[in-house]
Amino acid sequence: MIAPGGTIGILGGGQLGRMLALAAAPLGYRCHIFSPESAGPAAQVSAAETVAPYDDRAALDAFSEAVDVVTVEFENVPAEALERLAEQVPVRPGAHSLRVAQNRITEKDFVCDLGLETTPYAPVEEDSDADDADRRIGRPAILKTQTLGYDGKGQTVLAPGDDVRDAWYGTLGNLPAILEAQVTIEREVSVVVARAPDGSVASFDAVENRHENGILDVTLAPADLSSALAAAARDGAERIVHALDHVGVLCVELFVTDEGRLLVNEIAPRVHNSGHWTIEGCETSQFAQHIRAVCGLPLGSTARRANAAMKNLIGADVEHWRALAADPAAHLHLYGKAETRTGRKMGHVTWLGPLDAPPPLPDWPPSGSIS
Ligand code: ADP
Ligand code: MG
Repeated sequence: MIAPGGTIGILGGGQLGRMLALAAAPLGYRCHIFSPESAGPAAQVSAAETVAPYDDRAALDAFSEAVDVVTVEFENVPAEALERLAEQVPVRPGAHSLRVAQNRITEKDFVCDLGLETTPYAPVEEDSDADDADRRIGRPAILKTQTLGYDGKGQTVLAPGDDVRDAWYGTLGNLPAILEAQVTIEREVSVVVARAPDGSVASFDAVENRHENGILDVTLAPADLSSALAAAARDGAERIVHALDHVGVLCVELFVTDEGRLLVNEIAPRVHNSGHWTIEGCETSQFAQHIRAVCGLPLGSTARRANAAMKNLIGADVEHWRALAADPAAHLHLYGKAETRTGRKMGHVTWLGPLDAPPPLPDWPPSGSIS
């Protein structure tokens, strides 16, 4: 156990690290951010910062001396960096969780081995794979890079007649890829789950996620699912977190197909954008839960205090901050990013409503805004 007063090292310096550091403070912990960029959203609210690339061994060694436990807010930290740190200090989650989640093939193989379902998929790693993958997957299909994709980047939809090879060499720059059947999605949902070092787990209610241009736009909590599907989604996430021997929070993104099947899409081995509503909506936020898990404290209650709607402030959306700040029902979070860029997550806002009414999503843009 890391007792309050200890220092939590966080790899990654973005808004997830910022909200982790803000949740660590009331429990008496300090945070030390390790990030290639200085003075980012997380470092602004943390006690210390190391600015270095993730493969800087001397910087990693000094960091491991300065902290009591290491965690991640960014899933593409090289697994080797975690392994090096783990020689000196507890690293939670461990390199295994990141390795599995960093590659879409490894991730789907892992999920299928657990008896959970995914979309049909096939690797495209060399020229000769293309025909075979095409035959197995059919159309419509999506070709994605195996690694480093996020917010819809590094993927392209293939219509009938589109050549897999052309898309692979063209759009994807012939990086190792995965061809996935494009399924008809009725809704997208996710489950945030935490696991403590003693193996205890606690999941939050499944939520519904709506995307715009490949980026999460809105999360509605709870998802409007049958109780059987909601339970199956939570059960799947709990099986995944156990099988990874993961410590900390992770998020499982799932598709509900038009036939009512539940398919696992992705695992994020960290706190997740679709869990931001828990800050105001639950007894324990996903951030406080992650801090508890990595420090070996008992997990908190995941009970919902309210139904909630969360909207991301992407790019110029953040210009509505005055109207949101004037809305007494809006819980406004701004991430302290100096520059507004298209597609960049600048903040989010959460509205709460009664437990027996649908999640309260207001009109957008907010009334009172000059746009
Ligand atoms: P990212 O890492 O960018 O979040 P995802 O695999 O989650 O990548 O894909 C982004 C979005 O694209 C998903 O949330 C979903 O809306 C859509 N999508 C991805 N894969 C499929 C698929 N196999 N069938 C249908 N839609 C998909
Ligand atoms: Mg995704």
